[in-house]
Amino acid sequence: LEEQFRQAQKMESIGTLAGGIAHDFNNILSAILGYGDLALEDMAEDHPARKSVQTMIEAGMRASHLTKDLLLFSRKQVSQKEAVDINQIIGRIEKFIRRIIGEDILCQTHLAKESLVIHADSHQMDQVLMNFATNARDAMPGGGVFSITTERIRIDQDFIDLHGFGIPGPYARITVADTGKGMNPQTVAKIFDPFFTTKEMGKGTGLGLAVVYGIIKQHQGHIEVTSTPGKCTVLTVYLPLLAADPHDHRDTIGLEQPRGG
Ligand code: ADP
Ligand code: MG
Repeated sequence: LEEQFRQAQKMESIGTLAGGIAHDFNNILSAILGYGDLALEDMAEDHPARKSVQTMIEAGMRASHLTKDLLLFSRKQVSQKEAVDINQIIGRIEKFIRRIIGEDILCQTHLAKESLVIHADSHQMDQVLMNFATNARDAMPGGGVFSITTERIRIDQDFIDLHGFGIPGPYARITVADTGKGMNPQTVAKIFDPFFTTKEMGKGTGLGLAVVYGIIKQHQGHIEVTSTPGKCTVLTVYLPLLAADPHDHRDTIGLEQPRGG
């Protein structure tokens, strides 16, 4: 619990700082990218400086990506929650996910037959899935398999004792697996830390999974990771299902205090 508190405080202070910088930075970047595009338009196809300008624009776009991540991270994520089916969310963004992971990686989805209705901000859920996809792509430079599986499970006391979280009831379990390079235990221990990245400068921000972690917590959910170096990584997300009976909304009975482990 203390660790969770420390993490929350760290995120809070970094978030406030980063948000302020990111906002101004984004305006500057818009100017750089805008004028870069204009310059390109004015250049003949065979202009010798064309390639340099293009490289500048690409670098600017990476920086823009970083500031967007920072803003997302720092924004007091006021989520717009509604009843949404997680299977539908996945179906809707599947083609974007395929675009992220590219053609060398096989993308498989195994969705539960029944609908999995949760109380969630669908844009934040998109964000979570796209972050997983981006990381999987980076972990499989030589291709591989990326899979998303959804299931309806019932969490009981045995499960809670084993996993150290949750309250009894129905949950959606989303399992995201890749056959990539995997991680050693030291890396696994840090992946949710803001700014922790093993990627080279300009490639990673170290914010993707910190954002994911925050979103999942805001949805009274839980995330676990297991990884085998050189082999695979599996991320498992648990999100409480909305009860079928609208008068039995689980958030009205207070889900915000899952038992710590
Ligand atoms: P970033 O992707 O910008 O580095 P993230 O927070 O998304 O930041 O991830 C943090 C780190 O966790 C990554 O740099 C990488 O070392 C590790 N990681 C995350 N997902 C995976 C994965 N699917 N396979 C291997 N390593 C991963
Ligand atoms: Mg990432």
